Amino acid sequence: MSSDFLPFTRPSIDEATIAAVGDVLRSGWITSGPKVQAFEAALSTYCGGRPVRAFNSGTATLEVALRLAGVGAGDTVITTPLTWVATANVILEVGATPILIDVDPLTRNIDLDRIEAAITASTKAIIPVDLAGLPVDRDRLYALADRCGLRVIEDAAQSLGASWNGRPIGGAFGQGRGFVSFSFHANKNLTTSEGGALVLPEDIDPALCERLRLQGVKRFPDGGMDVDVLGGKFNLTDIAAAIGLGQLPNLAAFTARRRELARRYFAALDPKLGLDLPMADFENSNWHMFQPLLPRGTDRGRFIVAMKDKGIGVGVHYPALHLFSLYRALGFGEGDFPQAEDIGRRTITLPLFPAMQDGDIDRVCSALAATLSELA
Ligand SMILES: *Cc1c(COP(=O)(O)O)cnc(C)c1O
Repeated sequence: MSSDFLPFTRPSIDEATIAAVGDVLRSGWITSGPKVQAFEAALSTYCGGRPVRAFNSGTATLEVALRLAGVGAGDTVITTPLTWVATANVILEVGATPILIDVDPLTRNIDLDRIEAAITASTKAIIPVDLAGLPVDRDRLYALADRCGLRVIEDAAQSLGASWNGRPIGGAFGQGRGFVSFSFHANKNLTTSEGGALVLPEDIDPALCERLRLQGVKRFPDGGMDVDVLGGKFNLTDIAAAIGLGQLPNLAAFTARRRELARRYFAALDPKLGLDLPMADFENSNWHMFQPLLPRGTDRGRFIVAMKDKGIGVGVHYPALHLFSLYRALGFGEGDFPQAEDIGRRTITLPLFPAMQDGDIDRVCSALAATLSELA
């Protein structure tokens, strides 16, 4: 491994943010407190004034959104097989059944044309995922959901900073009955190390969301309390919120830099390499990841090892989730979703993060070309 190893991602955390974390640590109050409230207010402003509540993970926001939407045993929820497994796990967690729909090979997101045929009387919600930061078509999505009476829980873990037709992801689309879930995991475009946020629709009570976030506890001014629902332990700390508050003012610059770097990949990658490139969208996508598909027949494991030997980190996001043992045991199997399976087997995540230099892209592209010719 070369000494100047280039990872596939790395967070950009400035000195002012590191100092702000130090201030929280010295303050005497390090769990949920004023920094979480300030972070929620800043996120709400970003999301056009919609109510936002902070969580300790994106996964927790998805689970709580399902509970707030009234999804439980006997219900089905529609989502994509090509996502981080958390998206489908939360459906199982609340006792419901995931209905998977194959992806559109162009966008690699859920194929909107196939959703309506999969809706039954038990279908309560749809969880679309903006894979790699490329948004699902919000106009078509909400037209369908509003017409069919389905709740939308946008899994926008990867798409903070992205937009749809000039409006930021996180804002209200359709009739405004959608939830939006963000993740602030270390690898996401904005991080709190671990964390998440849930944007609430108008007809959902933020106080109930807060109770589901923390043990169902309702507190009274006289110090008394009651517990009227079963809540989890999903609150964000002020330490994490201080990181988020330091990141948010940089989000637009992060997104702009990611778009520049993605453009550079398109310019630098030789079409003769036989890669299938992602959709070239520089308006909507936040370029959370740059993911070419390897030529069919390339041994991805050997490719990744050979790139690592050249000092380049390559990730895999993600194998189609229905082929994991847990999902096979539920009855899913090979051949169920051919597009997701093909992409899941061939996808690679190349380095892309705001602090990368232009020259790093050229370095990745020459290592990639050399590796493909070695493996051919
Ligand atoms: C990261 C991610 C999640 C889960 O977020 P965590 O903060 O890690 O719990 C869910 N869905 C997608 C698509 C993700 O990328």
